[in-house]
Amino acid sequence: MKKIAVFPGSFDPITRGHESIIRRALPVFDEIIVALGENAEKKSYFPLDSRLKWLELVFGDEPKVRIMKYSGLTVDLCTRMNAVYILRGLRTSADFEFERTIGLMNKAISPVIETIFFLSAPEYAALSSSVVRDILRNGGDVSKFVPDKIAREIHGSVSL
Ligand code: ADP
Repeated sequence: MKKIAVFPGSFDPITRGHESIIRRALPVFDEIIVALGENAEKKSYFPLDSRLKWLELVFGDEPKVRIMKYSGLTVDLCTRMNAVYILRGLRTSADFEFERTIGLMNKAISPVIETIFFLSAPEYAALSSSVVRDILRNGGDVSKFVPDKIAREIHGSVSL
């Protein structure tokens, strides 16, 4: 059976931290579905279409990565896509506590699904989409924190 993992997130915007987790996990799986969650209650900073386009730009030449948007439960997406694994990144003990609750609830709903954690690379352990958004809101340069391919586009679409 193909080993398919779903990497869910809001990617608002994708950072080098996300990119690093996905690229490091590639040798472990046959396919990684980067799944952009549409969350009606959480207002995003960047529009869904831009966030999707940036994911496509970063991973467009990686045959094992598939990009999609989804709404609803992540475990339901996994079932639809025949994915048995949910991939998540861990930066801090706070991430761990948060992820543990979600992972245990997902396990209660869908016992076959396993959540796999990758520790953040140390250089990205303090990096988050929210910090990137704060820098952008204040007119700063985020080139060091987002994938090279999309840094210019991200700066171009900021409304200060
Ligand atoms: P969410 O909206 O679910 O928090 P994010 O887009 O912020 O989604 O993050 C998706 C996943 O990427 C989460 O597992 C998060 O812990 C992980 N992640 C985010 N930033 C980093 C980073 N700098 N290093 C490692 N993992 C990260």
